[in-house]
Amino acid sequence: QKEEWAKLKEEPTFSGDGEQVELAANIGTPEDVEGVLNNGGEGVGLYRTEFLYMGKNELPTEDEQYDAYKSVLEQMGDKPVVVRTLDIGGDKELDYLDLPKELNPFLGFRAIRFCLENEYVFRPQLRALLRASVHGNLKIMFPMIATLEEFRQAKAILLDEKEALKNEGVKVSDHIEVGIMVEIPSTAVIAKQFAKEVDFFSIGTNDLIQYTMAADRMNTQVSYLYQPYHPAILNLVNNVIEAAHSENKWAGMCGEMAGDPIAIPILLGLGLDEFSMSATSVLPARTQIRGLSKKNLAANKDKMLAMGTAEEVVEFVKELTE
Ligand code: PEP
Ligand code: MG
Repeated sequence: QKEEWAKLKEEPTFSGDGEQVELAANIGTPEDVEGVLNNGGEGVGLYRTEFLYMGKNELPTEDEQYDAYKSVLEQMGDKPVVVRTLDIGGDKELDYLDLPKELNPFLGFRAIRFCLENEYVFRPQLRALLRASVHGNLKIMFPMIATLEEFRQAKAILLDEKEALKNEGVKVSDHIEVGIMVEIPSTAVIAKQFAKEVDFFSIGTNDLIQYTMAADRMNTQVSYLYQPYHPAILNLVNNVIEAAHSENKWAGMCGEMAGDPIAIPILLGLGLDEFSMSATSVLPARTQIRGLSKKNLAANKDKMLAMGTAEEVVEFVKELTE
């Protein structure tokens, strides 16, 4: 099986009936890029920048960040790289920021909420990204977007820094796509409105599932409710993909679900454009997708979306793909 995978390393990803999708990988550091390329990743679908901020006593400087982003972009060449801006809070703490303890950190002051209130943290990251943009195919993504205003505000700050850099004579790419993570149900529900303003969506199912099912992703006592194949999740995912396509935008997924062999046929049938997973899942996923008929799965999507339980969905998809 390993040999079969290796043959597909440099190949694009096609379903059995000739429909192309993109298989990207998630990374946390520039050192992870080697693994992406060695495993046939067609891009980086999620660069979690938190690691630049963690395990130290102070914020990383703009130049430190620039070096990291540049390194990732250069190693990836013209392949797309989606960089997520700082997503601290929830399960990811930073001691030196001395944030107040919260009763519900996952519902609290985190990610874009923190960044919009602390521009002294946000702006240097955006500047570093903009400066690095000339070294590859950069896409910028904001985490935990719950409202259109948050996206507009974040994008305005980005454009403000771009303008400032240009005035300083610094070169910045004019082809940077700006998108959002869809990991809060409110955003998945009004994806259509978002689709007019964002360049792309990347669905963060790790959080989207916990918020939709009201089941903490780290609490084993309620893990039975953490159901990726629950029809509520699938209907939200479908809504996001349809919204994207209605505006000629693309929709990806960077949560664990994107690399799950049970979810892959479902997501292919819903029309997901980009799947971002751990690097070692890319070649198995490419192999699996080559054996699937996207048209057949898509023809059955309404039936699947109308089901009542995750179990029914899984049974149905198993039968369809046997
Ligand atoms: C997600 O929420 O699905 C996601 C990819 O982000 P993280 O796991 O970093 O919260
Ligand atoms: Mg998340």
